[in-house]
Amino acid sequence: MIMKITEFFRNLPKKQCKECGNDMEEQHECYGNICNECLHVTDL
Ligand SMILES: [Zn+2]
Repeated sequence: MIMKITEFFRNLPKKQCKECGNDMEEQHECYGNICNECLHVTDL
């Protein structure tokens, strides 16, 4: 049984913001699952 590592990552669900539910890119790991927009809102 051979499973390519790329296939493994493709099967992973996209990260979603827990605040607005929008798809987000994995950039702010330290902030958990909150997108930039929500971060800016809470930053004010
Ligand atoms: Zn958000």
